[in-house]
Amino acid sequence: MAPSVPTVTLHDDIAMPQIGLGVYQVPLEETAETVHHALEAGYRSIDTASLYRNERGVGDAIAASGIPREELFVTTKVWNTDQGYDQTLAAFERSLSELQLDYVDLYLIHWPAPARGLYVDTWRALLSLKAAGSVRAVGVSNFLPEHLDRLIEEEGVVPAINQVELHPRLQQPELRGGHVERGIVTEAWSPLAKGGLMDDPVIQKVAARVERTPAQVILRWHLQLGTVVIPKSSNPARIRENLDILSFELREADMDAIRTLDRGSRVGAHPSEVA
Ligand code: NDP
Repeated sequence: MAPSVPTVTLHDDIAMPQIGLGVYQVPLEETAETVHHALEAGYRSIDTASLYRNERGVGDAIAASGIPREELFVTTKVWNTDQGYDQTLAAFERSLSELQLDYVDLYLIHWPAPARGLYVDTWRALLSLKAAGSVRAVGVSNFLPEHLDRLIEEEGVVPAINQVELHPRLQQPELRGGHVERGIVTEAWSPLAKGGLMDDPVIQKVAARVERTPAQVILRWHLQLGTVVIPKSSNPARIRENLDILSFELREADMDAIRTLDRGSRVGAHPSEVA
């Protein structure tokens, strides 16, 4: 039986699974099979984006799965070059058509791209999609506190989620604290630091104690922080491994040890650099 994945509650009482599959850099021709393995393993949340050019594969796997639509949680994102009110509405229609769905659960602004000066207009488009029932929840990704506050000030609506780079080498305690204050859920992208932390001695020591893999320890650390995680894997065994984190716990001492690994170092771009 599929494990029961814990959920977080977004605005409007929308439940989002705390663990999902990320499909960045999964080639289109492999995406349906990868998502099929994830759904079979018990994942019900999938994170894609128009940038990834694999929304069609996500949609194919969903269509073939026979899983009732309301049991699934599908996230996609509007890309930087599609920002602006009308452009975003058009980009959303293309995403919906690729996904072969009639609504998405969560639609995100992929980057603030402040140099374009369009993220408030883009946010207005997301709000109108939500009002029309085409998306259940709206949020952002890679937003700094100043960008979050501008959306809230200008449109009066707080994003449900901010999806940001977050892993033991980049723990973002201040940003996370600011999310809590504003009522925003934190979602971690590259939660495994793209696989670069598996040899870390602190992670390995905790893994040995709990008799789990380093990836499972890192993902469990995220769960206990309360963040949503979307690890990417194309490997069926690792897809299952990454979901199998519900039957053990990290002690406070393990959490403290992992806290010491923060270096403020990124595996991806800084939000102010992306236009
Ligand atoms: P992750 O931190 O999820 O790491 C993925 C890498 O780790 C892959 O190389 C994968 O290899 C490997 N891996 C996965 N599971 C294991 C395991 N159990 N043991 C060992 N290695 C493992 O990086 P991503 O950058 O892919 O981030 C995850 C998701 O976050 C993306 O797919 C995307 O959905 C989202 N994202 C969003 C961004 C944004 O700007 N909003 C930016 C970047 C990512 P293998 O496939 O071979 O298992």
